[in-house]
Amino acid sequence: MATIDSLLKEKRRFSPSTEFAQKARISGEAAASKLRALAAKSPEKFWDSAAKDLLWAKPWKKTLVWKPPFAQWFVGGKLNLSANCLDRHLDGPRRNKAAILWEGEPGDRRTLTYQELHYEVCRFANALKSLGVEKGDRVAIYLPQVPEAAVAMLACARIGATHSVVFGGFSSDALRDRILDAQAKVVVTADGGYRKGAVVPLKENVDKAVVQTPCVKKVVVLKRAGCKVDWNDGRDVWWADLVHGRSAVCPAEPLDSEHPLFILYTSGTTGKPKGVVHSTGGYLTQVAWTTKHVFDLREEDTYWCTADVGWVTGHSYVVFGPLANGATTVMYEGAPLYPHPDRFWAIVERLRVSIFYTAPTAIRTFVRFGDEWPKKHDLSSLRLLGTVGEPINPEAWLWYQKVIGGGKCPIVDTWWQTETGAIMISPLPGATQTKPGSATFPLPGIVAEVVDKAGEPVPAEQGGYLVIRKPWPSMLRGIYGDPERFKQQYFSQVAGGTYFTGDGSRIDKDGYLWVLGRIDDVINVAGHRLSTMEVESALVSHPVVAEAAVVGRPDEMKGQGITAFVTLEAKQAPSDRIKDELRAHVVKAIGAIARPDEIRFTDSLPKTRSGKIMRRLLREVAAGQGVKGDTTTLEDFSILAKLQSTDEE
Ligand code: ATP
Ligand code: MG
Repeated sequence: MATIDSLLKEKRRFSPSTEFAQKARISGEAAASKLRALAAKSPEKFWDSAAKDLLWAKPWKKTLVWKPPFAQWFVGGKLNLSANCLDRHLDGPRRNKAAILWEGEPGDRRTLTYQELHYEVCRFANALKSLGVEKGDRVAIYLPQVPEAAVAMLACARIGATHSVVFGGFSSDALRDRILDAQAKVVVTADGGYRKGAVVPLKENVDKAVVQTPCVKKVVVLKRAGCKVDWNDGRDVWWADLVHGRSAVCPAEPLDSEHPLFILYTSGTTGKPKGVVHSTGGYLTQVAWTTKHVFDLREEDTYWCTADVGWVTGHSYVVFGPLANGATTVMYEGAPLYPHPDRFWAIVERLRVSIFYTAPTAIRTFVRFGDEWPKKHDLSSLRLLGTVGEPINPEAWLWYQKVIGGGKCPIVDTWWQTETGAIMISPLPGATQTKPGSATFPLPGIVAEVVDKAGEPVPAEQGGYLVIRKPWPSMLRGIYGDPERFKQQYFSQVAGGTYFTGDGSRIDKDGYLWVLGRIDDVINVAGHRLSTMEVESALVSHPVVAEAAVVGRPDEMKGQGITAFVTLEAKQAPSDRIKDELRAHVVKAIGAIARPDEIRFTDSLPKTRSGKIMRRLLREVAAGQGVKGDTTTLEDFSILAKLQSTDEE
């Protein structure tokens, strides 16, 4: 049974400060262990009590019905997500609290209190009804990161329409495919949105897409950028006209716990994106619990998750999780480096952000631009940092901890997927001692293991397949319209019918879990199965390297050789001397087996639009073949073209 040889060892440890731990919602390791033990006894009971924190219109009869691979949670219960995120905060002091603090890329700003957000959501929900949208219909949302994106999502949830948010950076083809797949009746968009100082022509993209989507009856257009748009009188309607004079009375429809809340496509890192379906009651239960406990969220926090609402992180941790907890959530429309690499830090300083959650790709980019940018700003309001999206290299983690967190903030490295809906593996910030690069332990109520292909647990320190043994509340309910792919993708690759995540992992001798990246990316060198993540982390730990992607390429002698694509820090010029140094550095950190055969310098790496390195494309480049894989979610085509045209000097 091929498992993964894990060679990189990280010895540094970080504990939360006494001050942080004392005030934390889960305070100290003893409290955490107690909670874990309780949840381990009966994950169902644990989640049952978490669900009681939500507002239910009708209580559930059964906590879990599990007919593998299909799970149902809180069966028989009825609730409404928008009532949970809005209405229940209106009869107390939260009514006039900021729900959303928004900043546009050009610098414009808006604040919506819970009362105001409720008003907008109710009016837009009534507007959707007036367009003929009914419970069970699908609505596509293709908006920039503006408050109206949250309004549209919550309005759908209020009337029981299932939304499918399509990231505003996607092309008209990608939009068309997603509209067709979901058979959306209405598309909600804007004239344009700002990105890197330019206007993205969203309406124009919609116009191109909907020519080929007969299911779409109406297109709602928000005026955002003020750019010129074509107009189809029978089909298009301005957002402002639609809500003008509309009633703000719109009772939240009680929906079955299992009612499909949304469809969302995975990032497309490993292949064609999958249309993941999420429920209402189970989804919100886990999203609300994790937001509160993983981020140690409190009433007075200013919480900022930098993800776009087009990704699952934007759904769960920009909109639904914080609002369900009555928190203040920050939304920023634009690019992190615009107009300068300190945009994020300027926002943190101005709003006194206390909890900050971003992706390793962003952190590595900031490392590349240098400490002088964050140093321009007072970041002392931060008390907790988080990451999600990819394995975080220990060096990037340490930089984040020191330069952004000022050495005083716990970091939660949260592992989860579009499919899991909510965080699954993460430190509990007031309790867990962290190790840079490790997502530490499964959360209470989550049963994750590392196994071989036969489904047997592998010994400590050995890499294997990361699986989730038991159903969890925010588990995907399927792939939209494709139950076969659902079974095939997640429940057939590891024996025993357990959910396979697609990721490789190891558990160290202290029980910490280390995500080693995708199983598909594992490199087989002379009989050793190496994790790309470990070789990349070794490269990134060299002071001149900002980012690295490592792939296997065919090699007659060894089975596979190693090609490393390396981005240097902004101030560093590439040279053969550096190549030699980097090879020696990897040998020292991991061993001769991991020595890159080829090193290629590049200004940027091909990434998905959610910022993940697409190694499958690099594999094709390294093998000297043309790129044949699905590139619909690739962020920048020119990077690929550049890489293909520059063979190794
Ligand atoms: P696709 O499924 O289409 O290939 P994707 O897996 O990148 O795309 P997402 O659901 O956005 O789509 O990403 C989930 C994946 O991201 C996880 O399976 C894992 O590989 C990676 N990931 C997320 N968070 C972490 C983390 N904290 N540490 C390591 N890896 C992570
Ligand atoms: Mg995936």
